[in-house]
Amino acid sequence: MKQSTYLIPTLRDIPSGADIVSHQLMLRAGLIRQSAAGVYSFLPLGWRVLRKVEQIVREEMDRSGAQEMLMPSIQPAELWKESGRWEAYGEELMRVTDRHNREFALGPTHEEVITSIVRDDVRSYKELPMTLYQIQTKFRDERRPRFGVLRGREFLMKDAYSFDKDFEGLDESYEKMYTAYNSIFSRLGLNFRAVIADSGAMGGKDTHEFMVLSNVGEDTIAYSDASDFAANIEIAPVNASYDKPDEAAGELREVETPEQRTIEEVSRFLDVKPEKCIKSILFMADNEPVLLLVRGDHEANEIKLKHELNAETVEMATEQQTKEILGSVPGFIGPAGVPAELNVYADHAVEYIVNGVCGANKEKFHLLNVNPERDFSVTAFKDLRSIQEGDPSPDGRGVIHFKEGIEVGHVFKLGTKYSEALGAEYLNDQGKAKPIVMGSYGIGVSRTVAAVIEENYDENGIVWPACVSPFDVHLIAINVKQEEQRSLAEKIYGTLQARGTEVLYDDRPERAGVKFKDADLIGIPLRVQVGKKASEGFVELKHRKTGEVEEVHVDELSDVLE
Ligand code: ATP
Ligand code: MG
Ligand code: MG
Ligand code: MG
Repeated sequence: MKQSTYLIPTLRDIPSGADIVSHQLMLRAGLIRQSAAGVYSFLPLGWRVLRKVEQIVREEMDRSGAQEMLMPSIQPAELWKESGRWEAYGEELMRVTDRHNREFALGPTHEEVITSIVRDDVRSYKELPMTLYQIQTKFRDERRPRFGVLRGREFLMKDAYSFDKDFEGLDESYEKMYTAYNSIFSRLGLNFRAVIADSGAMGGKDTHEFMVLSNVGEDTIAYSDASDFAANIEIAPVNASYDKPDEAAGELREVETPEQRTIEEVSRFLDVKPEKCIKSILFMADNEPVLLLVRGDHEANEIKLKHELNAETVEMATEQQTKEILGSVPGFIGPAGVPAELNVYADHAVEYIVNGVCGANKEKFHLLNVNPERDFSVTAFKDLRSIQEGDPSPDGRGVIHFKEGIEVGHVFKLGTKYSEALGAEYLNDQGKAKPIVMGSYGIGVSRTVAAVIEENYDENGIVWPACVSPFDVHLIAINVKQEEQRSLAEKIYGTLQARGTEVLYDDRPERAGVKFKDADLIGIPLRVQVGKKASEGFVELKHRKTGEVEEVHVDELSDVLE
């Protein structure tokens, strides 16, 4: 590519409003330009990097057995109403209306679309498991778009969705994605960590975020210095969890427990089968485990809360009553397999109980329908928001430290939340219809480009790792008016191109200083400089990272660049 006619509008000064290095450098090196708040064009150089990151993601997805496809960005509102997220997603969902007054969402994520496809086209257990993915533009009307492409309102995401017969299958599919994510971020050379995350609005249980450790990260990670424990501190003290539908479930059972139990004892004790259980929550009150059961009947539109306090059972019935008692807090979606509306109230109820009732009274409680590892994992219960530097780690090994992180990837076990809401079923080997068990897995491809820059720059500009550099080699004719330099540079350009090397050739009639400054800013790892010694056939090879310069004869160049 000849630089004289290639669009790389570099800037000498730091553009106003760009607060972090990656944003500044992406603008200054001519990778991106802004159209509106959180909306960016990737110019040719930026687009090449984006494509390289995308390709690494694609290769690892393909290796894991996932199948690439492409879904529409424009999604009918009906699908989002079926899942309950037309309301629950809130203002972040971009909505458009067509000329016939039909409503649509601009996809911020694709659980609804993919579930509807699988609902219509997958019938039998023989077709499962299956993981589908796409790399596609997403839209989110972020409250605070900022930091360039780190938090855009239109951005590139890889999103994958797994479909399994049962939860054991989901565990395997999740594991495969987790492994693929490790490979992707390792190949990108990022300093990252997989951390336990809050299942939040996705309504899942097991969920991990892949965090690039960085001072500009918007999330805070608490991690142990002596174990693998690492979690996003936004994990709430009450960790809502989904219940796997259990075929062998019988009547609701209540179990007496002694008054004082450690979490470990409780978790060994709790092997009870659920029945119509929306969620069971174990939480800490004054360092004691307390259990709350929320159960309900979707068809009857009924929700019940049961919680034993001083031998007195609190019970609430019907959605309406729950609504009245708890008031309305928007923005919640509950666990898998439950219509979002009902979940909203389940979550309110839990909040209410935990904040309002349980505080002081925890002498006696019943334990209902709880299954350790299925309903909770012990490490997730600590209120990490109040944890201090140097506190013991929740897993009992080492002490806690903090670090900021950029969330570049996220894996969720969704369970049957979407398949039940949208009716995606398969027939098992006995011909019985069962909800498909799902997982969902995202990577912020454009965000990752910025994260790579945050880890790879110096005072002169970007220092690309070779794997995502926009070009392999930056060839510079130092003085193009010098015929010998120009013709040697042209010859090298031709040779490198012929052997498939990606070359950016600076053939501009600019001063050497300008060319070097631009080359540093753009950050291609290897530079071939054709200067005064061109007449003797010698060129300079400069390494962007170390600044090291070697003199090489043009005949040896091919070998050196191998
Ligand atoms: P965040 O907490 O940063 O808002 P999220 O948890 O809302 O992200 P997910 O729904 O998990 O995001 O989406 C999957 C991935 O998409 C994220 O891990 C992140 O890398 C990327 N992503 C999410 N929002 C944005 C955004 N506004 N701009 C760029 N990338 C984003
Ligand atoms: Mg978000
Ligand atoms: Mg997040
Ligand atoms: Mg996330």
